[in-house]
Amino acid sequence: MLIVNDEQRLRTGIGSMGKRCQYCSKALAAYPLILSDDAKLAVYHAACAVQLATEIMVNLYTFFSPPAPYDRLFVLCASGGRIDTTI
Ligand SMILES: [Zn+2]
Repeated sequence: MLIVNDEQRLRTGIGSMGKRCQYCSKALAAYPLILSDDAKLAVYHAACAVQLATEIMVNLYTFFSPPAPYDRLFVLCASGGRIDTTI
């Protein structure tokens, strides 16, 4: 969820701009902010949220397409099933 002003911030339960970003640990200080939709309340600077998302995508890419000499562990299918390629 994008937070761009005090009203939105207070509605999400973030009482202070002094709260720390979950990614860089610096004070939130300025808008825009990103609130994660995880069970735990986590708020990030927008730039930190982009960096975190990029890291996750890069890690997922190497997980699903590992570099040689590693083999792919499994393939996701549109049906939601899983094909194990290690057998
Ligand atoms: Zn940050």
